[in-house]
Amino acid sequence: MAESDLMEKIISLAKRRGFIYQGSEIYGGLAGTWDYGPLGVELRNNVKDIWWKMFVKSREDMYGVGTSIIMNKQVWEASGHVAGFADPTETGEKFNVMFKTTVGAGEEATISYLRPETAQGIFVNFKNILDSFHPKLPFGIAQIGKAFRNEISPRDFIFRSREFEQMEVEYFVREAEWEKYFEAWRDTMHEFSKLVGIKNIHELNVGDEDRAHYSKKTIDFEFEYPFGRKELWGLAYRTDFDLRNHSGASGVSLEYFDEESGERFTPHVIEPSLGVDRTILAILASTYTEDELGGETRSYLKLPKEVAPVRAAIFPLLKNKPELVIKAREVYESLKDENYNIVFDDNGNIGKRYRRQDEIGTPFCITVDFDTLGENPEHKDTVTLRDRDTGEQKRVRIGDLKEAIK
Ligand code: ATP
Repeated sequence: MAESDLMEKIISLAKRRGFIYQGSEIYGGLAGTWDYGPLGVELRNNVKDIWWKMFVKSREDMYGVGTSIIMNKQVWEASGHVAGFADPTETGEKFNVMFKTTVGAGEEATISYLRPETAQGIFVNFKNILDSFHPKLPFGIAQIGKAFRNEISPRDFIFRSREFEQMEVEYFVREAEWEKYFEAWRDTMHEFSKLVGIKNIHELNVGDEDRAHYSKKTIDFEFEYPFGRKELWGLAYRTDFDLRNHSGASGVSLEYFDEESGERFTPHVIEPSLGVDRTILAILASTYTEDELGGETRSYLKLPKEVAPVRAAIFPLLKNKPELVIKAREVYESLKDENYNIVFDDNGNIGKRYRRQDEIGTPFCITVDFDTLGENPEHKDTVTLRDRDTGEQKRVRIGDLKEAIK
């Protein structure tokens, strides 16, 4: 499949099946904005959930926060964004990509910015976390949230948009230990890529001239998108740049006091920064598959089951046989679970239903047929469980289904 075809197919599938729509579409759209539909939201929630569990919940050294999108403009002056967060335009001018806004009315109004990264909300809460939780170094603060950049040319679907979501960690360490924790986070990011089904990540060690103003070492995790190899995530050693600058500008000490050694110092920072939307595009591109099944070509998403928007679909073999429908509804009710989505579908013939579920990446399809009702006594109270990738079906006892799809 040509790569340009792949991109078109992904965009068309995303729209047709309710994953991702163009923002403000009925008004002709707004460049660089995208709306997630019912399946897209489920997929996105699953990605964020897996990240949160892996990067925050499962670790003793992590603290989660959810900070404001609009912050005091001094934050962006101290962080260097007001002076330096710019992209050159075609005419060679400097153009700052932060969205400016005003807060308050009349003479009281002040200028502010929509945050271009979630990281600064973490740095300005560093002292709050120290005071509330007294963590020992190393420890990290994490958040998932929206970020905004007035990109000069938003493009490539959700790859480069003006409003997007980030999953970021600021991990605070002693300066002497930065390399060790940089390596540890590097491994964690690779592990995460595998869990969510992203294939073929390449690392790029970013050279001095291309690194952000605050960083002494950055690795770009690049993905082979259909439009070329591009940055998916970043891992940066931000030194003590942010805490030191916020300390200086705010006059509030952001030092860490080590009770054991009696030392007082500004911690250094390792930052794994992952864009949610670029992650989703990489998942779609990694898992979009075309093959031939039963003499027909089909397209499907080979999503890991934890990522798929729907875990299992339940079908009565025929829609017009009430005894099948009642039994299938019963199975559906027994499988409903707060941790994943189960759907009931009796629309169209069974082959079409399988194709529809394949296309959105549903790993399991369960069919209630006449054998379930006892037509073949040997198979009473069993259903067929179909595997998305192979199309193979096996009979499973209704009582064992829950375990089978877990
Ligand atoms: P690029 O060089 O592609 O503009 P960046 O180096 O400016 O990206 P960072 O500032 O490192 O990006 O942001 C961290 C992460 O946020 C990126 O790795 C990416 O996943 C995501 N991200 C950044 N800008 C965008 C955008 N405009 N649209 C979608 N995601 C983005």
